[in-house]
Amino acid sequence: VFITLEGGEGAGKSTQAARLAATLRARTGRPVVVTREPGGSPRAEEIRAAVLAGVAKPYGPFAEALLFSAARLDHLETLIRPALARGETVICDRFLDSTRAYQGAADGLDAELLDALERVVVGPTRPDLTLILDLPAETGLARARARGAAAGEGADRFEAESLGFHTRLRAAFLEIANREPARCAVIDAAAGPDDVEAAIRAVIATRLPG
Ligand code: C5P
Repeated sequence: VFITLEGGEGAGKSTQAARLAATLRARTGRPVVVTREPGGSPRAEEIRAAVLAGVAKPYGPFAEALLFSAARLDHLETLIRPALARGETVICDRFLDSTRAYQGAADGLDAELLDALERVVVGPTRPDLTLILDLPAETGLARARARGAAAGEGADRFEAESLGFHTRLRAAFLEIANREPARCAVIDAAAGPDDVEAAIRAVIATRLPG
């Protein structure tokens, strides 16, 4: 089973990915792999670090999308597909919807171009379930900045974008959920972590019974 978590900054995706993994391990007694994008494999993490540091920004959003695609290809080939082939559950913190939302809606890249990249890179390896953690852009950005400040880090290349960018991003994720209701579930992520976890468990119970 392939589950992805999506949403804007500060939505709590990594916290919930870890909690969901614990829930599924307890329920099935089988291995659950938690991974993330951009990154997730050693080579893909190198690309992540470079792009988030802003190295590719002068080349424009298409080049950034190509770099993230190269990272995704490696991540799929070395980690995601082998784990799914072994029958393990894979939980990925961000995946193709982040590309559609960030590089498509927020950065203005052509949807057909992104669809083409998706066909080539992702092919048939589609998520069975996508949890879209939704919250107002202001709330998420404030959380992300507080987390960055606590860690002594500045905003990365995308966190530093305008509120308008992050508002478009939120709308883009909600639109994806509307377009693909069978795959996606929207979770109210403005609530505290325990409430968000409960909402996710409720979705899992109905969408992935057994
Ligand atoms: O969720 P996480 O903090 O790991 O995401 C890292 C950064 O990468 C975020 O700032 C996010 O905005 C950005 N990103 C992006 N395009 C993607 C995936 C993530 O710009 N396709």
